[in-house]
Amino acid sequence: MSVTKPDVHLRLGSHAEKEYFEKMVKRFDGITVGANLLEATPGATASLLVKLCAGGNRLRYQIDPMTYAFGGYVDPGSGRPRDDLDWIKSDQKVKGQKGKVVRAIKSSYLKLSAALGTVFAAAIRRGLAVQPDDLSSGTTRTLVCESVLEYQRNRIKSVFLGDSEYKDFADEMPQPEVLWAPYFYIEPSRRGEWTELTWLLAAESVSKGSGQPVYAVLCAPRGYLLDPAFLSEAAARLPETGVSGVWLWFSQFDERDASEAELVNFKKLVSSLCSSMAVYNLHGGYFSMALCESGISGIAHGIGYGEQKDVVPVIGQSTPTVRYYLPALHARFGVPDIERTFTSMGVKTPADFFEKICGCVLCRGVIASSLSNFAEFGERHLSTPLSKRAAQTPAAAKRCRFHFLLSRLRERDWIRGKSKDQIVADLQTSAEDWEGASIRDLSGQATQIARWARVIQA
Ligand SMILES: [Zn+2]
Repeated sequence: MSVTKPDVHLRLGSHAEKEYFEKMVKRFDGITVGANLLEATPGATASLLVKLCAGGNRLRYQIDPMTYAFGGYVDPGSGRPRDDLDWIKSDQKVKGQKGKVVRAIKSSYLKLSAALGTVFAAAIRRGLAVQPDDLSSGTTRTLVCESVLEYQRNRIKSVFLGDSEYKDFADEMPQPEVLWAPYFYIEPSRRGEWTELTWLLAAESVSKGSGQPVYAVLCAPRGYLLDPAFLSEAAARLPETGVSGVWLWFSQFDERDASEAELVNFKKLVSSLCSSMAVYNLHGGYFSMALCESGISGIAHGIGYGEQKDVVPVIGQSTPTVRYYLPALHARFGVPDIERTFTSMGVKTPADFFEKICGCVLCRGVIASSLSNFAEFGERHLSTPLSKRAAQTPAAAKRCRFHFLLSRLRERDWIRGKSKDQIVADLQTSAEDWEGASIRDLSGQATQIARWARVIQA
């Protein structure tokens, strides 16, 4: 087993996050970009990637082809399966007809469907998600795998070639670190077909990979973590596909509120797959990283969120507050909640804070000589004169994100040198130290670390 595990990949969510990537991503192990973002802003995404990954920088990158977006999903409200592609649609104004709005596929996904061609373009044309039947023929699966792999190999190059000013960059851009097989959400009403297709598309992609490493994505509902039949099928069939690695994505699986049984089964799946491939959690956090002795290769997440993800995002959510990541508990809390712990944790001075809460350069800079400056992580304002509710200021959100990224790097570096017993002992110490504060000041919301310790130890 490599001693450098676990790796942490950062996922670029939007170009508003560019600053974090330019400042921090080189200290991480890779960057992941969704193909929908690449289609929404091809020039900006390609130039950011060439800046970070070409020449002497050599940061590794991967492109998530986002093929699941064209498949079926489960309506988050009703729990019913849907095939209408609605979650990749938006209300769009009709040109020349004032006030008229139509619901149509977002332009980024429309462009992606055209770039991927085959069943993706056909699904958009007919207004119905890709069905398992669309992929029943071996010839079609071959075409789909070829087009999805080709997209990852050449899309960035083609962006540069299409621009006379930047075309010289085309040859500088290295290939993605690995190629992702096309994948779809294993929508429960057609579980058998989607599961089988996951293996078939993975195996076909390996055969079309021209020697480049190919990873599968296992994208399933969280409930399948409690389904022994599914887990043993995955453990048996994935290795047969010949993939070099897998990104696990159990939709809505959140390490923090997961049951002990879910965590145990996740760990077992990692241990059983790792003998034949690299195993990553696509939206993971500290618990997944801490499975390094069980064979996990790493995790990915966004810059201040994204340690779990629903296949279908909840629509209409306002911008969430970026909470403060409490390193001892490996979880985020509201700033006032953390301030309440100061008394029980004996945090009276900035020096106490740096020792017991966080001593990263950002926290040292913000808190400086007064503990009351900690409130700056939660600073709120009315964002417009018409706003009714105060929201976190962009500066406060930025402080929380940089502190989180620095904490994550420190956690990764610490874990890399540690045995399972050391990781468990550290979690147990934190659980004991913080038990009182958690019960009193954090509404008891810190039970996960004791649970993690038990599962990692087992
Ligand atoms: Zn900090």
